[in-house]
Amino acid sequence: MALNGAAISATPISVRFWGVRGSVSCPGPSTANYGGNTSCVEIRCGQHILIFDAGTGIRPLGNALVKLSPSTDFDVFLSHCHIDHLGGLPFFAPLFTSNQVVRVWAGNLQPVCGIEDAVRKLMSFPHFPIQLESLKAKVEFRDFRAGETIHPRPGVTLRTAPLKHPGGATGYRIEYGNQSVAYLTDIEIGDGPIDPPLLELAKDAALIILDATYTDEELPAHIGWGHSSWQQGVRLANAAGAGRLCLFHHSPEHDDTTMDSIKTAADAARPGTMVASEGMQIEI
Ligand SMILES: [Zn+2]
Ligand SMILES: [Zn+2]
Repeated sequence: MALNGAAISATPISVRFWGVRGSVSCPGPSTANYGGNTSCVEIRCGQHILIFDAGTGIRPLGNALVKLSPSTDFDVFLSHCHIDHLGGLPFFAPLFTSNQVVRVWAGNLQPVCGIEDAVRKLMSFPHFPIQLESLKAKVEFRDFRAGETIHPRPGVTLRTAPLKHPGGATGYRIEYGNQSVAYLTDIEIGDGPIDPPLLELAKDAALIILDATYTDEELPAHIGWGHSSWQQGVRLANAAGAGRLCLFHHSPEHDDTTMDSIKTAADAARPGTMVASEGMQIEI
């Protein structure tokens, strides 16, 4: 597993972070080192490009894909449709490019509504000036029920589970070439026994990308908000026998100095624990 700057290579899975914040984007000098864009993670399984969440980080990702990627076929898997996970989608450049296919997946909406309804609401008066019909790409919407297993591309398996979060969210386990990555956000792990389906997604994963919005000290003021602390992440990773833990979905209130201290403390608690930052790349 190599960090930072390694080329997309023959390793089975390559992870790149384009947005690492939760709740709301927070650009500026105090967050420049870790980044201010909201959730978006590119996970390449061989040549297959899978995108997890469409926060504001999906805008620079889309620009890079249009310029550099030979692929014209993209899958966007949403944890859920809160604005920090969906709000960047209308700025995803492939949507405005002919001969592209963009598939948007969500597992937490039915039977109340579907992912197409959610995107239409976002891209409509009075929130947004351009409607779905103006997009040049072929856009496909795929609803599923969290808990189902998906095979979106040859050799790629996505196991899913519902996560404890207001309105629901979907956790993913990406399996490819005998390796696995768990993408678990937004999730309130809590202090009781770990939810068995959550533990199953994380079990023996080479990498866990986890909602670690808070510290244990901040949690009591945020019970029921649907997020976890980095200490709870360490507990989950240890219980799951996972490889490396990567803290993600950082609070917008945590500036670079705070994030540095979290990184030091988390690495001491579980050596090798990483803190996601924009541009960081992990080869598995
Ligand atoms: Zn979020
Ligand atoms: Zn949320």
